[in-house]
Amino acid sequence: MKLTIIGFWAGYPKANEASTGYVLEHDGFRLLIDCGSAVLSKLQNFYQPEELDAVILSHYHADHIADIGALQHARLIQGFLGKQMNTLPIYAHDAHSYEFSKLTYKTITKGITYDPKAALKVGPFTVRFLLTKHPVTCYAMRFEVDGKALVYTADTSYIEEFVSFSEGAELLLSECNFYGNQDGSGAGHMNSFDAGKLATRANVKQLVLTHLPHYGELQQLVEEAKQHFSGQISLAHTGQVFEI
Ligand SMILES: [Zn+2]
Repeated sequence: MKLTIIGFWAGYPKANEASTGYVLEHDGFRLLIDCGSAVLSKLQNFYQPEELDAVILSHYHADHIADIGALQHARLIQGFLGKQMNTLPIYAHDAHSYEFSKLTYKTITKGITYDPKAALKVGPFTVRFLLTKHPVTCYAMRFEVDGKALVYTADTSYIEEFVSFSEGAELLLSECNFYGNQDGSGAGHMNSFDAGKLATRANVKQLVLTHLPHYGELQQLVEEAKQHFSGQISLAHTGQVFEI
């Protein structure tokens, strides 16, 4: 699996950057994980909108879905310009039916509900879900191919269920919305200590901190996570690629 970071900012994108979006690729299949504000712009540095094979969404906060409409129009217009492409499946939960209904647009995209209690097959990926602790319904995802796993926490405060869910993953893409001296649990987010502790308890190989705050010195998040995890730790940045 190849993971490309498209955007990583929490809440809203910093100038010329994007909020949450990642592309996971394997065997030529390209899955966009979340599609926050400015993701469509940054995506085009690495993949064209018509090159995506599927999208999967964790929840309906704007920093995870704001560019779905832009993606739909990009594929519509590229179709007018002669590009051949299939209807793009967008996998999401339907706990918010109005938001879910907007995922289907003409024959351009089609919203498909996932059953969070079952494993989902998307292209070459087997995806499993974990209900997170967040102000709105949100699911973490574990992606597996050939016995290797990537776990994406999506948005959540720390919950014990993450330990078994993330067990042995090659890469833990963990939200880290707060510094170690801040308690993010009321807001439904983790801090750098939570991310480091989870990485150790789940025995993952490497930790990537994402969904980053707009203040402070971000490198401090890494130093704090290091106090609890001795494996490799990175701060997400645009265009960063991980081979898993
Ligand atoms: Zn959220």
